[in-house]
Amino acid sequence: MRCPFCGAPDSRVIDSRGIEEEVRRRRVCSTCGARFTTSERVQNHALFVVKKDGRREAFDRDKLATGIRKACEKRPLPTGSIELLITGIEERIHESGKPEVLSTTIGDLVMEELEKVDHIAYIRFASVYREFADIGALKDALENLSAGKNNPARASELPDGAQR
Ligand SMILES: [Zn+2]
Repeated sequence: MRCPFCGAPDSRVIDSRGIEEEVRRRRVCSTCGARFTTSERVQNHALFVVKKDGRREAFDRDKLATGIRKACEKRPLPTGSIELLITGIEERIHESGKPEVLSTTIGDLVMEELEKVDHIAYIRFASVYREFADIGALKDALENLSAGKNNPARASELPDGAQR
């Protein structure tokens, strides 16, 4: 298993535990010493996402990953951190062990995690997911974020709708 921090090909398993249909392995990189967790899951583990209108669709990791990657596009995030973020969110989604998860729960989880790593990515995701009702709501969110933070939003990095 390749180290997500330094890219070294070797890592050592230091702990392994099974939770229902999943096996998690705690690993340590033989090169940089970073510790990370991997999980193996039965492929067809059925998890359904309940949409706002009540429709259900099979959980799709790729769809989740695409939304997150898009929000993080061209942001100065360390190599591997986006994949770790996606895996972390996916693990949290599966943690409940329930067969269904609300799409809003997933959206909230993503927002929570993005807010910790990158404010521009957070705003981008939020503007799509929350569908900010008006520019005022988006401005408020931006002001809350940039107050006292060293990560000020630049107009050129905001979603199209927010530049007007
Ligand atoms: Zn490493």
